[in-house]
Amino acid sequence: VKRLRRFDFYEPTSVREAVALLTAEGGGARVLSGGTDLLVDMKLGKARPSSVVNLKGIEGLDRIDRVDGGTRIGSLVRIRDVESSPIVQEKHHALWQACRVLGPRPVRNLATIGGNLGRASPASDTAPPLIVHGAVVLVEGPEGSRALPVEQFHRAPGSTHLASCEIITAVFLPDPAAGTGTAYRKLGKRGGGWDIALVGVAAGIVLNAGGEVTDVRIALGSVGRRRANCAAGRRPMKRWARRRRLPPRRSLRSATCAPARPTGRR
Ligand SMILES: Cc1cc2nc3c(=O)[nH]c(=O)nc-3n(C[C@H](O)[C@H](O)[C@H](O)COP(=O)(O)OP(=O)(O)OC[C@H]3O[C@@H](n4cnc5c(N)ncnc54)[C@H](O)[C@@H]3O)c2cc1C
Repeated sequence: VKRLRRFDFYEPTSVREAVALLTAEGGGARVLSGGTDLLVDMKLGKARPSSVVNLKGIEGLDRIDRVDGGTRIGSLVRIRDVESSPIVQEKHHALWQACRVLGPRPVRNLATIGGNLGRASPASDTAPPLIVHGAVVLVEGPEGSRALPVEQFHRAPGSTHLASCEIITAVFLPDPAAGTGTAYRKLGKRGGGWDIALVGVAAGIVLNAGGEVTDVRIALGSVGRRRANCAAGRRPMKRWARRRRLPPRRSLRSATCAPARPTGRR
């Protein structure tokens, strides 16, 4: 562990102030949320910001709200709070499952959803389910707000399409269509779910009233430089579902949540 380089520390109380600080500081500033990634990187000398802008004093970024057509999760909402949310459990099940296996509990008590996306790790546990849920990242910058689909948000490992003066303020998840079931499974080295994913798979399936599959979504983590949204997997899965005679809608959730087990092979 290296000695920390000197840096300026700012605690804005509004999004506008945070954006103004980042703009004034140029590319040398870094945003701080839970700190579970940034502080580790700074201690290891991998990140050497000239200034750190702590978002935790900004009110309203730590809320989960029901809004028109979906759920808005503020960027400062901790993974533990996503995991404890009945709304997320009911409406956005794959994300809820992902948050339950993201790192050990002390990490989930600090880590935020905005930080997990901002980190842009290919092994992020929240990105694949967010892609399957059709979520968009809400961003604020000097020019105002913009929204980016999660699947277009990451550029490469550790890099996003955010400008250095922009911050993530929230993630919006549209309500699922009737008959939707979603799930997330991850395999890690130890198989317990708490370690970094060797592979993470989020899947969503939509059935119509007659039990026919009308849509399938699959997104993978840890398999490449960015999250893979497996459009190619949809057609074979629809064919498979037609042959298999899927259970009626009400049992879909348990059917899609059968436990995944590591094979022991790498
Ligand atoms: C022991 C351990 C185990 C872990 N296990 C897992 C795991 O199993 N799965 C997993 O996915 N992750 C895991 N992580 C990684 C980490 O906990 C997550 O990536 C976490 O969600 C990051 O959130 P944070 O609030 O701590 O981000 P921070 O550390 O504060 O920030 C992370 C990055 O995002 C940027 N950032 C933060 N907030 C914003 C914002 N609002 N707008 C723009 N940029 C922002 C920061 O500048 C920084 O570059 C683990 C970490 C540790 C230490």
